[in-house]
Amino acid sequence: MIPYGRQDINKQDVDVVVEVLTSDFLTQGPKVPLFEEAFTQYTGASHAIAVNSATSALHIACLALELGPGDYLWTSPVTFVASANCALYCGAQVDFVDIDPRTYNLCPDALERKLIQAEKNGVLPKVVVAVHLCGQPCDMVAISRLAERYGFRVIEDASHAVGGRYKGKIIGCCTYSDITIFSFHPVKIITTGEGGMALTNSSELAEKMILLRCHGITRDPDQMTHKPDGPWYYQQIGLGFNYRMTDLQAALGVSQMQRLDYFVAHRHEIAMRYDQKLKALPVITPWQHPDSYSGYHLYVIRLQLGKIKKTHLEVFEYLKRAEIGVNLHYIPVHLQPFYQKMGFVPGDYPLSEEYYREAISLPMYHTLTEEQQDEVIQAVSEALL
Ligand SMILES: *Cc1c(COP(=O)(O)O)cnc(C)c1O
Repeated sequence: MIPYGRQDINKQDVDVVVEVLTSDFLTQGPKVPLFEEAFTQYTGASHAIAVNSATSALHIACLALELGPGDYLWTSPVTFVASANCALYCGAQVDFVDIDPRTYNLCPDALERKLIQAEKNGVLPKVVVAVHLCGQPCDMVAISRLAERYGFRVIEDASHAVGGRYKGKIIGCCTYSDITIFSFHPVKIITTGEGGMALTNSSELAEKMILLRCHGITRDPDQMTHKPDGPWYYQQIGLGFNYRMTDLQAALGVSQMQRLDYFVAHRHEIAMRYDQKLKALPVITPWQHPDSYSGYHLYVIRLQLGKIKKTHLEVFEYLKRAEIGVNLHYIPVHLQPFYQKMGFVPGDYPLSEEYYREAISLPMYHTLTEEQQDEVIQAVSEALL
C-alpha cells in the first residue's frame, strides 16, 4: 500500500534523538529553546512556543486571545476537527464560513457577508481561524482587513503549510494574524512524532501562552505577587496545562527543519508531475493562487462526476483495491454528529459539502518515488474508466 502521507527519517534524525536520550534532560532541557529559535529565525516571527501538538497550540492560542463563554470562533468546515474544537475547550461557540470553490479555503466574501449579518444581530466572532488547506495560504490580506473592520482576532492554522509562503513572506511571520500554529504530526511536512508550535509577534500573547503551556506556573520574579521565598520558589498565577514538548521531540524537530525547504521544494515537484499527468483526465487538479507558495501537505483532486460513469465511492474503493492509500480531507466538520447536535444540518455550507462529494487526496510525501507516483497515476486513470 502506498500511503497518502508519511514521514522521512534519516540517520541524523536518529542520531540526534539518541543523543538526547543519553543526555541529562529528556524534557525541559536545551533542545526546546533551540527548536523555538530555529522557528523564529525561519519565519521572522518574534516568539515561538513549542507544545506537544497543534491541537494544544490552538487551545492555548484561543485562551491567550481570551476566547471564552459567550464568544464565537469562526472557521472553515473543510478542516480537521481540531480547528473548531479549540473554541469548545474554552467554553466558546463555533460557527463556520463556507469555502472558496477554487482554493477550498475559507472564502473572504462569504466571511464579509456573514460579518455584516452578524453585526446586525450583535454576535460578531471574537476569533477567526484561517486554515491553509493542503498548504495553500488563505487570502490573509482580505481576512486581516476584515479583522480590523469588525474587531476580531486571527489565528492561522498552518498545520499544512510549514515551509510555505504568502506574498513572498514565510508562513508563520504573523504579518496578517495574531498567532500562527503548526503541526508536526508524522503525516505533516516535518515531524517530531507528535508536536506543535505557536508563533506570534506579541510579547503579551507569547507570555500568556508560555504560562498556559506549563500549568500557569512562573519562575520569573517580575510576574510574582511578592519576592520569591527562596531559590526553590515558583508561583502558579493562572490555570494552565501540561502541553510541553520533550527534548527528544525538539531535537528531532531541529534536525528535520534543516531539510524543510528541500522537502517543500520536492513536494512542489511531485505536485507538478501530478498536474501534468492528470491534466487530460476528468478531474480538477489543485488550483494555486499566484500569491501563494504552498507547503503542499496534501494533493487533492476533485472528480468531475458529470464526466465519469463511476461514483466517488466507487473510484475511492477502486484505488484502495489497487493498494493506493487515498484519503479524504476532510469530512466537513459541521456534518460530524457532535456538531449536528449543536444544530448544524446538511445544506448549511453547500460548497464545502460539494467539495466533500468529489475530493480525493492522492499520496503526497517526500519519499514517494517516481515509480510509485506513476503507479498512482495509472490507477487513477483506470479508476475513472
Ligand atoms: C493535523 C491538524 C491539526 C492537529 O494537529 P495535531 O498536531 O495532530 O494536534 C489541526 N489542524 C489541522 C488543519 C490539521 O491538519
